[in-house]
Amino acid sequence: MRIVSRTTRSALEQRREESLRRRMAAGTIRRAFPHVDQIRVQLRFGTGKESAPSAQLHELHAPAPASFEFSCPIGDCDGSLDLNAAVRSLLAVSGNHAEGSLECSGTRAHGGAARRNCRLHLEYRISALYRLRG
Ligand SMILES: [Zn+2]
Repeated sequence: MRIVSRTTRSALEQRREESLRRRMAAGTIRRAFPHVDQIRVQLRFGTGKESAPSAQLHELHAPAPASFEFSCPIGDCDGSLDLNAAVRSLLAVSGNHAEGSLECSGTRAHGGAARRNCRLHLEYRISALYRLRG
């Protein structure tokens, strides 16, 4: 049996695994937010100098995990964009839209040199659709 020690795995892998574990632990949207039918998350990025990663649209339906954390789209970055607080505060008041921005707090390898802060700028827009009460 091959034993893989924690230290042989990259920090990036560990972060991805932790993120996955949190997704599994969060349960489904249906369970966490029974009144919610669909959540749509639009992500737009801007880096300032480099060409920005393409925009993303995530449509999350009731059976999807109730976790709103997205990996940073920059390949060598170990960060993630955590919209859990933003989504949860919107759903808590049954709001329809929320907008905001944040910066990636991950670090990037930059070709083997010392890691640098990513600081990718994200603008997000969250839309929520609710079930009709019957
Ligand atoms: Zn990043």
